[in-house]
Amino acid sequence: MTEWRFVVDGFEPEAESWREALLTLANGYQACRGAAPEAGADGVHYPGTYLAGCYNRLESRIDGNTVQNEDLVNVPNWLPLRFRIDGGDWFDAASADLVEYRQMLDIRGALLTRRMRIRDAGRLLTVTQRRLVCMADPHLASLQTTFEAEGWDGRLTVRAALDGLVANTGVPRYRDLANRHVVPLSEGNDGNLLWLQVETITSKIRIAEAATITVDGGREPSLSVDRRRGWVGAEFDVELSSGRPRTVEKTVAIFTSRDSAIEECLLAARDHALRAGSFDDLERRHRRAWRRLWSACRIKVGGESQLILNLHLFHIFQTISEHTVELDVAIPARGLHGEAYRGHIFWDELFVLPLIYLRLPHVARNLLLYRWRRLPAARRAAREAGYRGAMYPWQSGSDGREETQRWHLNPRSGRWFPDHSQHQRHVGSAIAYNVWKYYEATGDLEFLNQYGAEMLVEIARFWGSIAVHDEEDGRYDIRGVMGPDEYHDAYPDRAEPGIDNNAYTNVMAAWTIRRALDTLDLLPECRRVELCELLDLADAEIAHLRSVSTSLRVAFTPDGVIDQFEGYHRLAELDWDRYRQEYGDIHRMDRILESEGDTANRYQVSKQADVLMLWFLFGEEEVLSMLAGLGYEVDAGVLTRTLHYYLDRTSHGSTLSAVVHAWILARADHGTAWQFFKRALASDIEDIQGGTTAEGIHLGAMAGTVDLVQRRYTGLEIRDGVLHLNPTLPPELPELEMRMHFRGHEGMTVRCTHERVQVSLLRSGAPPIEVAVGDRRRTLRDGETWDVSIEASPPEPVSAPSAIRSASPTGG
Ligand code: BGC
Repeated sequence: MTEWRFVVDGFEPEAESWREALLTLANGYQACRGAAPEAGADGVHYPGTYLAGCYNRLESRIDGNTVQNEDLVNVPNWLPLRFRIDGGDWFDAASADLVEYRQMLDIRGALLTRRMRIRDAGRLLTVTQRRLVCMADPHLASLQTTFEAEGWDGRLTVRAALDGLVANTGVPRYRDLANRHVVPLSEGNDGNLLWLQVETITSKIRIAEAATITVDGGREPSLSVDRRRGWVGAEFDVELSSGRPRTVEKTVAIFTSRDSAIEECLLAARDHALRAGSFDDLERRHRRAWRRLWSACRIKVGGESQLILNLHLFHIFQTISEHTVELDVAIPARGLHGEAYRGHIFWDELFVLPLIYLRLPHVARNLLLYRWRRLPAARRAAREAGYRGAMYPWQSGSDGREETQRWHLNPRSGRWFPDHSQHQRHVGSAIAYNVWKYYEATGDLEFLNQYGAEMLVEIARFWGSIAVHDEEDGRYDIRGVMGPDEYHDAYPDRAEPGIDNNAYTNVMAAWTIRRALDTLDLLPECRRVELCELLDLADAEIAHLRSVSTSLRVAFTPDGVIDQFEGYHRLAELDWDRYRQEYGDIHRMDRILESEGDTANRYQVSKQADVLMLWFLFGEEEVLSMLAGLGYEVDAGVLTRTLHYYLDRTSHGSTLSAVVHAWILARADHGTAWQFFKRALASDIEDIQGGTTAEGIHLGAMAGTVDLVQRRYTGLEIRDGVLHLNPTLPPELPELEMRMHFRGHEGMTVRCTHERVQVSLLRSGAPPIEVAVGDRRRTLRDGETWDVSIEASPPEPVSAPSAIRSASPTGG
């Protein structure tokens, strides 16, 4: 493997679905899992095809209850291509005699190649399949298959199809739920053009696919076409003679009734497929688009992490690309790579957005607009729950209503349980945080005026109305919510769900209110008046918000540690050694405990960083100042104790946890931080959660690893429009180089070593920018380079090494 090639050798049925997720090709509009073209959903393979934002809702019966779930739809599979020699059996990797089987992802060119040498009744056949999902034209994808007989002549029969008889069966846990989301509308062919149209059942999105089939550079084979409702296929023969490769190309165009600039999606698909050109033409355009993307988004660190970082960048920019700008979509937690979490949007955007706004700011803006367009739904949700402002859903899909499932299955026990995770109201603050950070990074005041301010104010208002005043001590409480730690959805002795005064939620709420008030001050006078009028925001409510933002409660333990929520420290301690010994992998302690008839609600065990998220988002100094703003004058000792307290009690049941821990320990204990970083890097490539990658990549963790390099190791921060750099590279990274887009400067390059920082600007016509490296600061203009030497600062000593080690990812 090089840093640009991800290679998997051999055919391993049990590894196929994991590989398919990692070998997914996408372009922000459509995605195609890296499944074998000859295979259907057969328990080994799962050929998912997804379109960004294409959701559908179905009802199911679970344990006597009717539930509704909205899913990212598995749309018709355009990939099917089977073959057989001289009328024998259709090729199937599971039963074939494979002399060679290799799949190679060219990360730079975004091309997937599968090479096989097959022995069939003593005859050797080499098959090379190349596949792309075009980054230059979001509607196109293509599969090129080259067959070569070695030392024999004979007839090869090929069958190519478009398969609309698909269902969402990619996640075993959901298999009891309704899963057929599309109904066939029509199918047929015009010569070598096969086409198919389906419609989603409730969202009524029409999806059309049209594919051309050619042989040896454009020749139309003589087809025998077969069709049934929802499926159309064509069979044809190719004469093979030794040493003379024969090439079959299948190029598909996909359109939906939601696309712009079309008359009708089937007409558009047919027309587009006919004009697509050859695989080679497409490949040229596709590679050019990716060259542009890599030149804008590349991060170089060298060493063994480079391949995985490239793979992560690749999947991020396949999920979110320039084509996303045309769509009403946001960042799905599991990419467009599988069906886990049904393609929903969570707070994970928090981990991905910094990569997007520092590279493709216009794309980031559109992702935030997805939330703005759902402001009416969030307002409605708040109103219905008895609050003011906007209450955004924990899981979001097509129309912005709460999409979190009502019931979830513990695969360990086989039991269904009510899912209370929608009580994670902190998602609203994550949206506010993203809006503010985007504004800080880009200076896009127009966005703040037109959209951002309204979101900030409405989210702040929600916090102002959910907070309850305690007459006794004058503080405000937020009760009945959940923090990021999903293991605690209730008190063990309380019937109703939710816990009280989650520290992360309350501090974020205070922060959100302050930013909303700052934003009102920032707006031009006439816009401020207009917005207050529009939102019916009177001075009295502003005063109330101000008072909530300074008086929200944060609970502390008697030992001076921030309590994750009121009473967390009084819960029982978990016998970590017992569970480690008995179960080995104890990341999902919630499932283990439930299967034992117990509940994680009884214990001081956290799924992932919760209080510590504050360190991750703001850094220690700002956490101290935010606490002071709430009237808690605490010293750094409280933070250190809090850090160690939760390091000892976190099971890292979410891949996001390793990212956060790598981040917060990066300067205090780079050794442990590096282990967490490596664990985050391994999330998908080693499928560390044992089977979850097959259901979709973990986009937040992927982005988190890159962002760690981008912002944490470089010390990159944007404050008051100034770009600050304060690098502390870990010993494992001798140097780092990245391309960014900062305030109109598209071709900005930042290079760091342990001794130097270099910032260069290409000519862009954008105004000069202010850059600070440590204490030094200068104005940088187009075409200039600033090369500064920095003092190598040794990593800070660790105050309690044993505590940190005991929480290390190796469980040491
Ligand atoms: C984590 C959440 C996350 C979700 C989607 C869950 O396992 O606990 O924090 O938002 O996955 O990635």
